[in-house]
Amino acid sequence: MIADIQEILIDEKALEKRVSELGEKITKDYRGKYPILIGILKGSSVFMADLIRKIPIPVEIDFLKASSYGAEARSSGVVELETDLSMDVNGRSILLVEDIVDTGNTLNYLLNRFESLGAEEVKVCSLLDKPERREQRVIADYIGFEIPNEFVVGYGLDYDQKYRNLPFIGILKREIYE
Ligand code: 5GP
Repeated sequence: MIADIQEILIDEKALEKRVSELGEKITKDYRGKYPILIGILKGSSVFMADLIRKIPIPVEIDFLKASSYGAEARSSGVVELETDLSMDVNGRSILLVEDIVDTGNTLNYLLNRFESLGAEEVKVCSLLDKPERREQRVIADYIGFEIPNEFVVGYGLDYDQKYRNLPFIGILKREIYE
């Protein structure tokens, strides 16, 4: 598995430090708001698990599954909601927890959706941001790391369902997906 990685971009220590910082900031901003943190599966699962343990105030969590990717390393541009939420978001403060914002299509779709469902406020926390490839004008409110236009895996992010269990964020060798 590790032989397929060209370079470690963000190591375990750096991830841990940054996730703690994001947790501290979110804790300050959401005190008294009782937000629902919504993880976008499957990519945000590892980030979500680490992040919520750095937020020592009352929160609820939920997950949904959206995808704009098939088994390929580029976006199809079409966002599909594969599994919806189990909670009512009407009047609630929502923090979407994403693994990465790339074209912005997924986020754009979800932001519109939660607004139309009557959420009082919808913000976004994304571990990674790849601004070079943006197609929609969306900006995450909390960003862990800005990264270059490379295909990355690990810490929840996959290629063809593999590599999610790597403890770091690494650039996948091109020969694996080309
Ligand atoms: P967007 O809709 O912003 O183009 O894409 C968001 C989704 O595409 C992310 O949640 C993630 O699942 C996937 N994605 C975008 N860039 C990468 C990448 O570099 N590596 C992996 N593994 N997934 C990515």
